[in-house]
Amino acid sequence: MTNKVKTIVIQGKETPIHEEHPIRVSCMEHIDVELDDYVNYHDVAPDTFAIGDVELGEIASTCMECGQPGKVVLLHVKGM
Ligand SMILES: [Zn+2]
Repeated sequence: MTNKVKTIVIQGKETPIHEEHPIRVSCMEHIDVELDDYVNYHDVAPDTFAIGDVELGEIASTCMECGQPGKVVLLHVKGM
């Protein structure tokens, strides 16, 4: 067990996220599928942000469904 909290920079602010819930990137075409999958697989409604608001680091900014440029980031912010 580690006490290290996973954070991601959203809108310039270091934001803690639930690391057991994934960060997903989607285009506008697949956002509905991604939202449904997130709820179905992780039993939680994700928080969504515009791709430009999130510092993705090593995560590719392309849609994880189709590989087109991503528009929306889905993740689960702690305390939201
Ligand atoms: Zn897509």
